[in-house]
Amino acid sequence: MDKLSQPVLILNSSFVPISIRSVKDAVCMVLLEKAQIIKSSLNEFIRSEKLSIPVPHIILLSNYYLVPKKSLKLNRNSILERDNYLCVYCGKKPSPSKLTLDHIIPKSRWSEISNDKKPKDFNSWENLVTACKECNTKKGNKLISEIKWKVPDSFKLKPKSSIFLNVNNSSIEKYGWEEYFSKGK
Ligand SMILES: [Zn+2]
Repeated sequence: MDKLSQPVLILNSSFVPISIRSVKDAVCMVLLEKAQIIKSSLNEFIRSEKLSIPVPHIILLSNYYLVPKKSLKLNRNSILERDNYLCVYCGKKPSPSKLTLDHIIPKSRWSEISNDKKPKDFNSWENLVTACKECNTKKGNKLISEIKWKVPDSFKLKPKSSIFLNVNNSSIEKYGWEEYFSKGK
């Protein structure tokens, strides 16, 4: 890909991802002092006679406090989207109609778990995950600790609204955007 059209992650001044723009746009914003580079390529540079700046991967806007407009509602779609349509227990990706929502701590066990060992709410980002029908059935009313299953931490968190930027995972890895997409806070 041409250097100038590579994607750059744009963060608002509160470090929330708000957009993805080309290197060309990002460099313009930096030159106009509207943004600063906070992550860049180690070996690729934009050069002209007068300047040489590293190809940015992430820039931080100085004056903008924009936040993405869509708010995050807790529902089946937002959970599936957060979990990348994968069963968090076995990692399989069946067709979405075969995916279910699983309560990590099942309703029948909720009251026996002490408050410091469970999320605040039964129906919450922390207690809901995507599971395939098979895993959901196998799990039944057991706790994952009882069957030695694990849920990756990243699946239990409320996603940032940045998931609505529709970024593909290869860009996230390639340009080092992980901390703004996969982790919760
Ligand atoms: Zn499964």
